[in-house]
Amino acid sequence: MEMDPSDVKKLVANDSSDSAAEESEEKKLNATSVSAFDMILKSLWKISVFLSDFLMSYVKEAQHNLTDDESVHPQDILRIFLLKKLSLAHPLDANGVCDLFLNILEHLPRWNSHFEVKEVSKKICNRCKMGMEYPVERSFGLIINAGSLRVVKALFENLTFDKILQIIRIDLKMPCDKEGCGKINYVQRMINKLPTVFTIALEWENNEPLGELFNTTSVLTTEIDIKTIYLYEGDSECTKYRLVSMVCSHGDGYNCVAYENNGWVRHFRSEKEVIGDWGGVLSKFRELHIRPEILFFENAMQQDEIVSGQKSEG
Ligand SMILES: [Zn+2]
Repeated sequence: MEMDPSDVKKLVANDSSDSAAEESEEKKLNATSVSAFDMILKSLWKISVFLSDFLMSYVKEAQHNLTDDESVHPQDILRIFLLKKLSLAHPLDANGVCDLFLNILEHLPRWNSHFEVKEVSKKICNRCKMGMEYPVERSFGLIINAGSLRVVKALFENLTFDKILQIIRIDLKMPCDKEGCGKINYVQRMINKLPTVFTIALEWENNEPLGELFNTTSVLTTEIDIKTIYLYEGDSECTKYRLVSMVCSHGDGYNCVAYENNGWVRHFRSEKEVIGDWGGVLSKFRELHIRPEILFFENAMQQDEIVSGQKSEG
């Protein structure tokens, strides 16, 4: 179901008239799930295309029906809307933060196309040359076993993060479909259209020792080229993506680590800590045993366009 801003305003109006009921409702929620939910939203707001699109449609709507709730932030309206839709009464499963994010996207059909990756897998037999194309797979980015980053890095020390992702993904091999051939070939992953936001979810084991955690997170970089990960056959010139925010698990709760005003910051509960450069982020992960679980990369060119557009307007 698509979110209709006027419905949301009604929800807000009902809620504020009965704040005691709302409070008891909040108490039934699971604290860890709510923390994950809040940090996912916080991370999404750091993505310029999400912010600008959401605010744009919100402002358009508001011009038609300005009500007495102007004091309510669009961020709060979105949060309340989603809280009604999602079930946060139970603890998250292991790596459940990714499922929660996907669940949120399902409720935001107007925005989820920005995250969409349509992947075609192709295989050409290197013995009989028969080609085979698989049906298009639609996803909202990659889900990667965090430990495999560390394993591949240990094998090939000089590889970059995007190259390591490619190697992990290329591992898929399939037998040739031609009768009597059956040669095992690598499957190539292809995309024709770039997502605005490229999401990478990392799945962790339960209790990595600190050394393993550090060896894994130190593989991550703040810039990736999507055409290293996929075979890209579209015509866009900019295939570079920048990391803008991450949802990270930390003890019983979640943090959002985001790039703001030329540096990295960590949001936890309602507090904010300035970290500084990327090296500082990695040290912070190690020091506090923080595990990044969802990484949001935004297309560099589109991000620049939105940011320069905002500057010239303001
Ligand atoms: Zn063959």
